[in-house]
Amino acid sequence: DKLGLALVGLGQYSTHQLAPALQETKNVYLAGIVTGTPTKAKAWKKKYNIPDSNIYNYENFDDIINNKDIDIVYVVLPNSMHAEYVIRAAKAKKHVICEKPMATSVEDAERMVQACKENGVQLSVGYRLHYEPFNKRVMELGQQQVYGKVKTIKANFSGNFANGSLDVWRLNKEMAGGGPLMDLGVYCLQGACYTVGKTPVAVTAQFGEVTKPLIFHDVEQSIKWKMYFDDGAVAECETSYADNGNELSAVAEKGWWKLNPAYNYNGKKGETSDGKIDLPDIFEQAYQMDAQAESFQKNKQSITPGEMGLRDLKIITAIYQSAREGGKKIMLT
Ligand code: NAD
Repeated sequence: DKLGLALVGLGQYSTHQLAPALQETKNVYLAGIVTGTPTKAKAWKKKYNIPDSNIYNYENFDDIINNKDIDIVYVVLPNSMHAEYVIRAAKAKKHVICEKPMATSVEDAERMVQACKENGVQLSVGYRLHYEPFNKRVMELGQQQVYGKVKTIKANFSGNFANGSLDVWRLNKEMAGGGPLMDLGVYCLQGACYTVGKTPVAVTAQFGEVTKPLIFHDVEQSIKWKMYFDDGAVAECETSYADNGNELSAVAEKGWWKLNPAYNYNGKKGETSDGKIDLPDIFEQAYQMDAQAESFQKNKQSITPGEMGLRDLKIITAIYQSAREGGKKIMLT
């Protein structure tokens, strides 16, 4: 039987990626919605055939504890709201999927992991690239040392949003937790970690120049950082809201590989020192949610657990600290 999932927050990502993906999933289906906007509730009810009894708003959300149709709550709200809704979902005894970045502070991330543990539910992060062939190939090449040990990694995920196309909350430090590092850079950090299958032992970082001060006065415009691994591998990463970039590459002892674009929903491309990486383009959010639902059903930890989201918040916090302290090396262990 398919598990029932409720989406919390019906913004861009829920509307254009997750709801369509849930039409293709095998282990899970769109059973309910949580929204503060009555017109959206009406439109979604009609489009996806959702019964009134499975439609919640932010006030009556906790009643979801009594709803047998809903097994999973997927939190797709602005970053600073993830903690509250993940914890409320856990208290309602629902498994939780939470969008990236999992939280806006290490403390919130710890509370989220704890709440899910205490309530006997699983927490999984919406790290879609773990469920997608090109990035999975990178994990295999790096972690299984197909070309020997990885020496250096390069990761850049940037988008040119300096034209005013960013949502207001993404430019608000309190709601977003930070700028492109929180939003896009988290993919670079993730990419570096899963290339080697390790967590870095130290980071250094520098904020980039602010060329658009009217837009970037609360969050950073861009940031560059390095992650140092215990075996000597070093990752050079960057992210910007005023530039373009979409690369995840590595040089190992006996070869190299590169994805570009690495992080887009579709059209990923890859190459190794042996030639083109030929893999299918899949609807990765559908694969992601199917895999997460299966892990919930089997009571097996997902491959992107809350602990991974917490780890990443610790790394992000150290990156910001280094940048604020003039590039000082911050140890993570
Ligand atoms: P969005 O702004 O389009 O949607 C946010 C939703 O939250 C809206 O429906 C909005 O009405 C609702 N909301 C409720 N209270 C709000 C408040 N106080 N202020 C602002 N909005 C409020 O954003 P989005 O792009 O859908 O992103 C939502 C989350 O999903 C973010 O955490 C983001 O990082 C994540 N995301 C992940 C991916 C991915 O590829 N995994 C892609 C896009 C977004």
